[in-house]
Amino acid sequence: MGKENMKIVCVLYDDPVDGYPPDYARDGIPELDRYPDGQTMPSPSATDFTPGDLLGSVSGELGLRKFIQDRGHTFIVTSDKDGSDSVLQREIVDADVVISQPFWPAYITSDIVAKAPKLKLAITAGIGSDHVDLQAAIANDITVTEVTYCNSISVAEHVVMMILGLVRNYIPSHDWVLKGGWNIADCVSRSYDVEGMHVGTVAAGRIGLAVLRRMKPFDVKLHYYDRHALSEEVTKELGVTVHDSVESMIEVCDVVTINCPLHPETEHLFDEEMLNKMKRGAYLVNTARGKICDRNAIARALQSGQLAGYAGDVWFPQPAPEDHPWRTMPNHGMTPHTSGTSLSAQARYAAGVREILECWLDDKPIRDEYLIVEGGKLAGTGAHSYSEGDATSGSEEAAKFKERSER
Ligand code: NDP
Repeated sequence: MGKENMKIVCVLYDDPVDGYPPDYARDGIPELDRYPDGQTMPSPSATDFTPGDLLGSVSGELGLRKFIQDRGHTFIVTSDKDGSDSVLQREIVDADVVISQPFWPAYITSDIVAKAPKLKLAITAGIGSDHVDLQAAIANDITVTEVTYCNSISVAEHVVMMILGLVRNYIPSHDWVLKGGWNIADCVSRSYDVEGMHVGTVAAGRIGLAVLRRMKPFDVKLHYYDRHALSEEVTKELGVTVHDSVESMIEVCDVVTINCPLHPETEHLFDEEMLNKMKRGAYLVNTARGKICDRNAIARALQSGQLAGYAGDVWFPQPAPEDHPWRTMPNHGMTPHTSGTSLSAQARYAAGVREILECWLDDKPIRDEYLIVEGGKLAGTGAHSYSEGDATSGSEEAAKFKERSER
């Protein structure tokens, strides 16, 4: 029979400023059979959207409205997530399910959990559930899930783009074109080849390994640090050097990319002390989570030249307030949080969210790889990759962005 009359609250980012739907650049996206490790793609009973459409913003509704309403449930979609007067705060009080995503995260703090006595399921439309207070979810028997693998390759592509962009000084060179200049010397004064450099990843999970595989053809020397070792076969295939600590790896690397989850063990891993252990003029690319880095220490390292460049798409909090130092620090290549929400990725995570919802509403088990917390403890992927605790503290600062928009 399944569950009836559920209330599902979904927080998504705003529509494009030019209106919805946008003019699409292409007529579709490639169809993939499986993820690189053989994991099957999301497999809901059906979908009600066209792959390649903008599903991740408010009007896209992850393509879920018909499915949810046909089954008699209530579906609230909003982008208004921060501050005590937000739609999220109002609607969460009698919600059974919250769908959020990491790009414009609805921070599900212990305060929100306390206001939502009926809340039983938190779905992350994407990967990375650090915006949910996992400790509060564990204590309140809330199941936390994410769509494992849906955008890992999307992020790996972004990482490679950012490594090349920083090392070759792409963005400032492009800026000279926009300014009408032909300033070759200005462009190349900070431009190098990646070939021959030492490139290391903190974590060699789905994204980290995909970055290693994509960087190998550039004839670089590969390194990684992870809590678990890669197989001997993969280590040999990539010719990658394994390190027993982050410190040992960053000392020898010209480029470091961070690909571990944010949890209490990794929060502020890259602080002043760690940054000072890197080679002078190293590049740091962080598409994992903003809070893995100490934001002021990163800005100082760029100002002093300890770092030659920093890029990524993850900030803390999100949206970043207007005065966030990463908006104005020198030699950065930051974007808003976009890497995991390409139109290609959206089709996968929208289907994955529907698969999770179908299972939960029909009282069927959710796949292990999608589970982060279940039955009052870390479970599935969560038990493997996360540690207990809360990484949401400080998220209330995100309300500053909303205050500015309302001014
Ligand atoms: P995986 O779970 O496949 O990989 C994470 C890896 O990190 C695991 O191998 C894990 O090791 C390792 N790890 C955990 N803690 C540490 C630690 N303290 N030190 C070193 N390694 C550690 O996840 P993905 O590769 O798919 O994603 C990684 C992260 O990237 C996500 O958690 C998310 O934060 C971020 N992400 C960002 C996106 C974006 O749009 N910018 C989109 C998708 C993800 P172990 O095997 O021991 O658990």
